[in-house]
Amino acid sequence: MTHPAVAAFAVRDGRLCVGDVPVDRLAQIVGSTPFFAYDRGLLTARVERLRAALPPRLQLSYAVKANPMPAVVQHLAGLVDSFDVASAREMRLALDTTVAPDHVSFAGPGKADDELTQAVAAGVTVELESQGEARRVLGVGEALGIRPRVAVRVNPDFEVKGSGMRMGGGPQQFGVDSEDVPDLVKFVVTGGADLLGFHVFAGSQNLRADVIAEAQRKTADLVVRLAEGFDGPVRYVNLGGGFGIPYFPKDEPLDLDAVAANLHAVLDDVLLPAFPQARLVTELGRYIVGECGVYVTRILDRKISRGRTYLVVDGGLHHQLAASGNFGQVVRRNYPLAVGTRMAQDADEVVNVVGCLCTPLDVLGDKVTLPAADVGDLVVVFQSGAYGLTASPTAFLGHPAPVEVLV
Ligand SMILES: *Cc1c(COP(=O)(O)O)cnc(C)c1O
Repeated sequence: MTHPAVAAFAVRDGRLCVGDVPVDRLAQIVGSTPFFAYDRGLLTARVERLRAALPPRLQLSYAVKANPMPAVVQHLAGLVDSFDVASAREMRLALDTTVAPDHVSFAGPGKADDELTQAVAAGVTVELESQGEARRVLGVGEALGIRPRVAVRVNPDFEVKGSGMRMGGGPQQFGVDSEDVPDLVKFVVTGGADLLGFHVFAGSQNLRADVIAEAQRKTADLVVRLAEGFDGPVRYVNLGGGFGIPYFPKDEPLDLDAVAANLHAVLDDVLLPAFPQARLVTELGRYIVGECGVYVTRILDRKISRGRTYLVVDGGLHHQLAASGNFGQVVRRNYPLAVGTRMAQDADEVVNVVGCLCTPLDVLGDKVTLPAADVGDLVVVFQSGAYGLTASPTAFLGHPAPVEVLV
């Protein structure tokens, strides 16, 4: 069975196409392999699909860290309502677009004073992760003569089970423990900040609609409780996201319609009655971009070692760490792979696809069944639109950085 992320890309004359361009032609246009290619049409379709399912009152924010390629960020600026950034550099990328600064929010632990200064000067919303950060942002506001726009990032009193990465519940480096939020609210309001509301982001890469739905409901209830100590209307509620994508053969894609149905109910039952004036937001990274990108490598060598066939490609974990299984996975499993230049050929050969780095960690495909391929063919790694290049150790072994294109 073809993985849904593979089936999303067109095939013409036996060749995989990105944005309608066959990968071998794309390699000529790019001028070198390996490269990352992101499909503009798929990005647009993805956001349209989300918009069609989600409540119209719920705004869609893109978490830039998932894929900060400037052309991708520019394209998404015309499709989403807001950006979530996690560094001053991501903030500049967001500010280069048509999205207004007051629709850019800056989250993340350990924001440096100069980052806070840039954010307050730009009018970006600073999502406070601690009491200490709150104190520093007030100091920055005073020094600049600007009232900082802030929201409180809340570490909820519940956990979201089944997240690939848990970022809320229990002790956390993220956010302010929910029981400490009332005191922080008093502190920042007294200190003169413009407190807009709350942000709760409890986890990432979740494929279970029922778990996400429960988290959304608990988040809404928590925000209602926290708002009791609030002076004036809550203007911003960011419910987080955590929508996962299926990387591995046994992963079932997230039931978006079930998640969306719950969001309709949570807005109608809880959030709209409690916060009629608030900007209600869900923020997504990988769910928007992950499936829209591929990493394209060229086979440099084909060798047989004691009965096992190895395809050695010119890319590897220095560009696509996650596909090698070394970015947060407990058990190494294969990302979907294809030979982009032999899509019409039967898959009848079991091979190991390895990168060009001199380390046994550099595996892109372990015992995968592919069409028989040879030196010069292009091996494509799917699910590479998020946490690919910028989540990889590009300096490791000193190979050149890959090109990224939006097609
Ligand atoms: C990383 C991050 C996201 C995006 O997570 P995805 O799994 O890519 O959707 C959203 N919000 C915050 C606060 C994050 O840190």
